[in-house]
Amino acid sequence: MEMEDHIKSEFSKRFGSEGTLYASAGRINLIGEHTDYNGGFVFPGAIDKVIMADIKPNGTDKVRVYSIDIDDYVEFGLKETDVPEQQWAKYIFGVCREIIKRGGKVEGFDAVFAGNVPLGAGLSSSAALESVFAFALNDLFNENSIDKFELARIGQSTEHNYCGVKCGIMDQFASVFGKKDHLMRLDCRSMEFEYFPFHPEGHRLVLVDSAVKHELVGSPYNRRRESCERVAAKLGHQTLRDATMEELDSIKSEITAEDYMRARYVIGEKQRVLDVCDALVKGDYETVGKRMYETHEGLSKDYEVSCEELDFLNDIAKECGVTGSRIMGGGFGGCTINLVKDDLYDNFVKTATEKFEAKYGHAPKIYDVIISDGAHKC
Ligand code: ADP
Ligand code: MG
Repeated sequence: MEMEDHIKSEFSKRFGSEGTLYASAGRINLIGEHTDYNGGFVFPGAIDKVIMADIKPNGTDKVRVYSIDIDDYVEFGLKETDVPEQQWAKYIFGVCREIIKRGGKVEGFDAVFAGNVPLGAGLSSSAALESVFAFALNDLFNENSIDKFELARIGQSTEHNYCGVKCGIMDQFASVFGKKDHLMRLDCRSMEFEYFPFHPEGHRLVLVDSAVKHELVGSPYNRRRESCERVAAKLGHQTLRDATMEELDSIKSEITAEDYMRARYVIGEKQRVLDVCDALVKGDYETVGKRMYETHEGLSKDYEVSCEELDFLNDIAKECGVTGSRIMGGGFGGCTINLVKDDLYDNFVKTATEKFEAKYGHAPKIYDVIISDGAHKC
């Protein structure tokens, strides 16, 4: 059964009526990695994998939700102390609470939801979950008076305050603002953004999920942030966003080799995002792909957040003639994102799957993605 029909029939079975159907999407980030905390750009887009929810106010002060995928049902109140035990329900409870904390209105409602965003694969199923409820509750209880940026912040605050994840704004931003056939360049310093057309005719976007996650000793993220902050401070800038490669080279002898490499990646990445935007406007997907490979190289050699499995997948992509390939996300595991010509697709997926499995004992997961709309009423 189609997801939509399944959700609707489950809703009527449980609650004996009809709700309103909403959806919000997972996301990819084409380029712009480890740039957010450096005041730089990210370049995400919403994808054709969504969480869909059927929702209806129930006239009580209780929320009643059934998750089809987890096959679990919860009821919770809307006071701060009513926090549910189930992790998945905390995302929904958090969204309710964050709306209420901002002076918005949320009353009791019934909901059934399901999704096809792979969980924990780096496509941000959690942001899709937050965004679909934030969008729906804004429509159902607040006459859409909460602006879209605030909806994204409501999702982000949910992760911070109810789920213990100190995330940035990109995932929720992409899930809320996503637009079919467009990527969004978000300026993480000013929070301004711009849509860019994404019409990769003759190409497909495919994610190869290594399904590994290396737990690292110490705090590699914090150490990298500190390197960036040190170099920015040395140059008299707030963040590396304002630094140039010439400036960096002028202080090379005064900073550690490691700090130099970290900053070289970040400064390069800012330019690569801008280059990709220019290339997209011209429909030049070869340049897009080249920059993706350069980003991988930078993340692997200068920022040192890759791992053997991801470098292996990147090498296979190169061997197969894939247009562009790189680590997506923070690194140390997860997916590569690949821009692949249609006629190379089958060979690439087959080769990557076989070679990866032969070497690491498990097959990677393959996710085809199409850039699609973000949060909406269905
Ligand atoms: P991701 O990278 O996919 O965002 P997270 O760990 O941040 O991974 O979020 C995954 C969590 O979000 C799941 O453990 C679950 O609690 C919730 N979630 C995501 N999708 C669903 C779904 N379809 N049904 C129920 N819960 C979901
Ligand atoms: Mg998440």
